[in-house]
Amino acid sequence: MIKENLQHIKAQIPSNVTLVAVSKTKPKEDILEAYQAGQRVFGENKAQEMQAKHEALPKDIEWHLIGHLQSNKVKYIAPFVKLIHSVDSLALLKEINHRAEQNKRTIDVLLQVKIAQEESKFGMDTQTCLELLNHPEIKSFKNISIIGLMGMSSLTDDMSQVRKEFKFLKTFFDKVSIDFPQLKVLSMGMSGDYKIAIEEGSNMVRVGSSIFGERNYTI
Ligand SMILES: *Cc1c(COP(=O)(O)O)cnc(C)c1O
Repeated sequence: MIKENLQHIKAQIPSNVTLVAVSKTKPKEDILEAYQAGQRVFGENKAQEMQAKHEALPKDIEWHLIGHLQSNKVKYIAPFVKLIHSVDSLALLKEINHRAEQNKRTIDVLLQVKIAQEESKFGMDTQTCLELLNHPEIKSFKNISIIGLMGMSSLTDDMSQVRKEFKFLKTFFDKVSIDFPQLKVLSMGMSGDYKIAIEEGSNMVRVGSSIFGERNYTI
């Protein structure tokens, strides 16, 4: 089923949009099935789970950390992680830079902007995001590249609300990209809303359950 699901989703995604297959909570066998169908980019939301999967699976997989990341967990993924989608503080940026330097690599990151109505979501408001981008200390972080923004829409069936939130982030993205042209990636859209996200300008979607099936537990 995984192969068919992947093909189905890929057929709906333009070639400029990167598909991140969100494999959190799913076993290695499922990831291998997707891998054998050609998928190379996978997303996990827990550092140690991602580390274990990285060790067990083919080394040409590109691993993305998509969930909230605590500073003390960065060390587990710094040797291999390709992109961290969920950066929301200077302290976290500093720790990622430090661990990347120790590993003699550069880690790409996205800044997570809060666009949902719910209080529970992580991410910064746009003002805080701008302050972070303009923070003088950032220039000294030689081992990270801030390459874009990420947002999660509200958990709602109201698709006009979801569309509004994506539109809001795209507008902000276009505005800050003028001063920060290194921002190229706009990560928005999950199983329930990736088509809307792409219509609203997303170029990276994070799709889990539509590929791997429902998760037995949510995080
Ligand atoms: C779990 C998760 C996804 C994927 O969710 P699905 O609805 O299963 O596609 C995408 N982004 C983040 C940040 C997640 O935690």
